[in-house]
Amino acid sequence: MAWVTGHQLRLYNSLGRRTEDFTPAADVVGLYSCGPTVYSFPHLGNMRPYVFADTLRRALRWKGIPFRQVVNITDVGHAVADSDTGEDKLEVAAARERRSVEEIAALYTNAFFTDLAALNVLPADEYPRASEYVEQMIAFAERLEELGFTYQLPSGLYFDTSKSPGYGTLALLDLAGQRETGRVEHVEGRKHNSDFALWRAEEPGVRRVMRWNSPWGWGAPGWHLECSVMSMALLGEHFDIHTGGVDHRELHHVNEIAQSEAFLSDGRPWVPYWLHNEFLLLNNAKIAKSAGPVPRLADLVEAGYHPMAYRLFLLGGHYRSQLDFTTGAMDGAQATLRRLIARVAPLRPLPHVETLAGARAQLSASAVTAVGAAAAASAAAEAGAAADATVTRDVVDDKTALAYVEAIDAAIANDLATPKLLATLQEALRDPDISPEGLRVVVAAADALLGLRLADLDPAEVDQRRPATDLAPEQVQAIERLVAERTQARKEKNWSRADEIRAELDALGVQVTDTPTGPTWQLR
Ligand code: AMP
Ligand code: ZN
Repeated sequence: MAWVTGHQLRLYNSLGRRTEDFTPAADVVGLYSCGPTVYSFPHLGNMRPYVFADTLRRALRWKGIPFRQVVNITDVGHAVADSDTGEDKLEVAAARERRSVEEIAALYTNAFFTDLAALNVLPADEYPRASEYVEQMIAFAERLEELGFTYQLPSGLYFDTSKSPGYGTLALLDLAGQRETGRVEHVEGRKHNSDFALWRAEEPGVRRVMRWNSPWGWGAPGWHLECSVMSMALLGEHFDIHTGGVDHRELHHVNEIAQSEAFLSDGRPWVPYWLHNEFLLLNNAKIAKSAGPVPRLADLVEAGYHPMAYRLFLLGGHYRSQLDFTTGAMDGAQATLRRLIARVAPLRPLPHVETLAGARAQLSASAVTAVGAAAAASAAAEAGAAADATVTRDVVDDKTALAYVEAIDAAIANDLATPKLLATLQEALRDPDISPEGLRVVVAAADALLGLRLADLDPAEVDQRRPATDLAPEQVQAIERLVAERTQARKEKNWSRADEIRAELDALGVQVTDTPTGPTWQLR
C-alpha cells in the first residue's frame, strides 16, 4: 500500500492547531482559497497565499488526489479597515483614482492574474466575483434570519455570535472575552463586539456606488458572506480545505465558519481543514497596503529579479514561518535560481512528471530494464565473461534516483516542507552516484511540486538586470538626490512629500524599489 500512496499527506490544521493526516471526505477534494480584494495592486505579501495554495494543489496532484480549486475575487463588500460600517475599499479607490468601480475591479483583477501567471501559479478551476453572487448572499442571509441567528439595526443585518456555539474556536478565542473586547469599531445597537454585518444598509442620505435592494434596505453585503456563499455554490455545502493568510484565521474565517454552520445547522463542522500561511515581513512588520508604498512583483522585475526568484525565495521558507523580505535574501534567491537553471539546463528535455506514481513508474521501468540487463550480465559473468560495469552501475543509479523521489515525497507529505524538498533536489544534483536518466526524473518530480519552471526557464531570462544605461553623471546625481530626499521624507513620515518625489521620479522614468537596506532605482 505504501508503494501506491507513498508517505501519508499530513497538514497543519489551524482548527485544533496540530498536524494531522489528511483524509479527504469526498472523491474530489474541494479547495477554497480566499482571494484578493481588487482595490489596488497586489503587493509581494499578497501573493504568498497563492504560491502556498499552489503548493498545496501541486501536492494533491502529486498524490493523485482529484481536487477542484476555487479562488474568489472580492470586488464588493470589503469595507475599509475590515469594518462593518465603513465605505467599500473599491469605492474609495475609485474616488481616489477617478475611475469607475468596474474599472478599478478590472484593472486590479488583471494585475492579480498577471502576477499569478508570472509566479507560475496553476490556474484555479473558478475565480468567482463577489458582485455576481449578491442575490445568493441575500438569500443566505434571509435563511439565517429565518433560523433566528440575526438581528436588524438601522445600519444593517447583524449575525448574533452569541447564538453560534463554539464561536471563535478557530482563533482560539475566549468567547466571553471576544464579545467584550474583540472589535474596536463602535456600531450603534450592536449586541456584542464580535457580531458582524451580513448586510450593510445605506445610511440615510448616503448612496453607495455599488448597491442592491434587499429585505433590509438598499446596501451591500458584509465582507464575510461572499466566501461562505461562493464556496458552497461551487464546491458543495461541505468541502475539505479552506486556505488564506494567517490574518484571516482571527476574524474573516471565524465569521465564515459561524455563519456557514448556522446556515447548515446540521451539527457537522462546515470545513474540516483550515490552512493558513504566515506573513511576509518588511522591516519586521507585516507588509500591508495601508502602510504606504509597498513592493510589488513588478518592482522586483524592474530591479532585475526574475519572478521565479521570488517564488524560490518563498519556497525556501516553510509556509507557516514568517519570512523577512530583504535585498540580501532576494539576491540569494536569484543566485540560487541562476545556479539551479544552469545546472538543470543540460539535462533537458526533462520527462513529464506530475505524480509520485508517474515518477516511480518512470524509474521502475528503467529499473526493470536495468535489472534485466544486470541479470544478463551476471549470467554472462557466471559463464566466465567479465561483467559489464556500466550495466551494474545503472541498477544502483536508479535505486538512488528512486530514493530521492521517496525523499521528495516525504518532504511534501510532511506539511508541505518545501525547504526540505529544495535541499533534497540540491543534494540529488550534487550526487555523483545518480544516473542522468534518474536525475532527469528527480528534477522533473521536484519541479512538479516546486513549480520553478526548471524544464523550460531560459538561463538568459533569469538575469536581465537593466543597467542605468547612458545617463549623464549629472542626471544620475539628480536622481540620487531625489531618491535621498524621498528617503528622508519617509523617515520623517512625510508621506505626501515622499509621494510627490516618487511622482517626480516616475516622470523621469525612474522606478524606485524600497528594500529594507534602502531604496534602489532603475530606469524603466
Ligand atoms: P487582501 O487582498 O488584502 O484581501 O489580501 C489577500 C491575501 O493576502 C489574504 O489571504 C491575506 O491574508 C494575505 N496577506 C496580506 N498581507 C500579507 C503579508 N504581508 N504576507 C502574507 N500574506 C498576506
Ligand atoms: Zn474569504
